[in-house]
Amino acid sequence: MNSFWETDHFLGADALVIGAGIIGLSTAIELRELHPTWRVVVLERGLLPTGASTRNAGFACIGSPSEIWCDMQTLGVDAALEVIQRRWKGLRALRARCGGRDIGYEEHGGSEIFLQHHESLDHLDEINDLMRDVVGGTMFVPANERIATYGMSASIATLIYTPYEGTLHSGKLMQALWSIAAERGVVIHTGAMVTGKELLTDGWSVTAQGIMGERTFHAGVVVECTNAVMETPGRGQVIVTEPLASLPLRGSFHYDEGYYYFRSLGNRVLLGGGRNLDFDAERTTSFDLTEPVQRALEELLYTVILPTQRPRIEHRWAGTMGFSATKQPRVERTGPGYVQAFGCNGMGVAIGTEVGRQAAELAIFVDGNSRT
Ligand SMILES: Cc1cc2nc3c(=O)[nH]c(=O)nc-3n(C[C@H](O)[C@H](O)[C@H](O)COP(=O)(O)OP(=O)(O)OC[C@H]3O[C@@H](n4cnc5c(N)ncnc54)[C@H](O)[C@@H]3O)c2cc1C
Repeated sequence: MNSFWETDHFLGADALVIGAGIIGLSTAIELRELHPTWRVVVLERGLLPTGASTRNAGFACIGSPSEIWCDMQTLGVDAALEVIQRRWKGLRALRARCGGRDIGYEEHGGSEIFLQHHESLDHLDEINDLMRDVVGGTMFVPANERIATYGMSASIATLIYTPYEGTLHSGKLMQALWSIAAERGVVIHTGAMVTGKELLTDGWSVTAQGIMGERTFHAGVVVECTNAVMETPGRGQVIVTEPLASLPLRGSFHYDEGYYYFRSLGNRVLLGGGRNLDFDAERTTSFDLTEPVQRALEELLYTVILPTQRPRIEHRWAGTMGFSATKQPRVERTGPGYVQAFGCNGMGVAIGTEVGRQAAELAIFVDGNSRT
């Protein structure tokens, strides 16, 4: 049974956000910015955010040549451009929001490596023409001299470099978003697994399971940001090496149409991907690791990325990405006062801020009018 204080102060909200990932925290921050008098409460199932936002690779990127070329063919040029513009806008908004805070942002640039010829290399001018409208300069330049500088294998046939890419520390980023949300007056409850919801005449009743039992919250509007209703889940497996005495490689790297990605992380290498080895097996929300993908990551590490060193792998983990056929996230009102926002297609660092803004607007404005 709840006390007066609990009912009066803790269990009521104007807006309830489910999930404290990049989208959930961004939505909560936007809700308070758009509606400063609203009580905004976030319910997170983990003791800390326990989704893709704390399990990703920390690339602040908008696309590699082979991926962009592939999108131009499959989505069409306009749709591909729209996706890229959204990532670019989202990254700028994220960096502006976190301005002055330590999110471990480094701008060493990014590269795509090719072991064999790829069709996109014949169309680099076309891709650069498209990207000029977005970044305002030449995005991709051939830079094979960097292969030796980075200490990578001579089996790499081509390296295309872009200065328009960075990396960040995903833990520090989430801490920064958490702090910004708290400073804006957002209340975050962790260890609160939402297990049920019911539409009432004056809003929603949302039940969460915690270690001390169940609590029912009452909210005018609900925004669900759980990354759980994605069209197609895709597991991403990641490994991180021990620190190396010397690591010439700096920045972020893409390989095999983005199915593999690696970066410097201080003096370590972080490497992930391999989902394309077995799409069926990797279409899962399980955090388990699989032997074939782990083996493929290690082989790429020891033969192509660090051919002269053999560091121990110190960290291994998996996370879930949400994919859609259009490569666009879904932000929808799915009931009265109920919004769902999910499906960043492996680019949540880039577009999570934008998705959060859209979700908050959809929660607050109905037919152009703001809820009170
Ligand atoms: C291995 C990997 C590498 C990636 N690398 C990059 C990268 O380099 N750059 C990039 O831009 N993107 C990357 N991504 C994608 C990016 O991490 C995601 O797009 C983004 O984090 C999604 O954010 P989200 O808020 O939608 O979901 P999440 O971060 O998953 O947040 C959802 C939250 O909801 C909570 N939750 C779920 N169910 C409930 C419930 N019932 N009750 C309460 N809380 C609940 C979860 O605990 C979680 O904290 C990567 C993803 C993975 C998995």
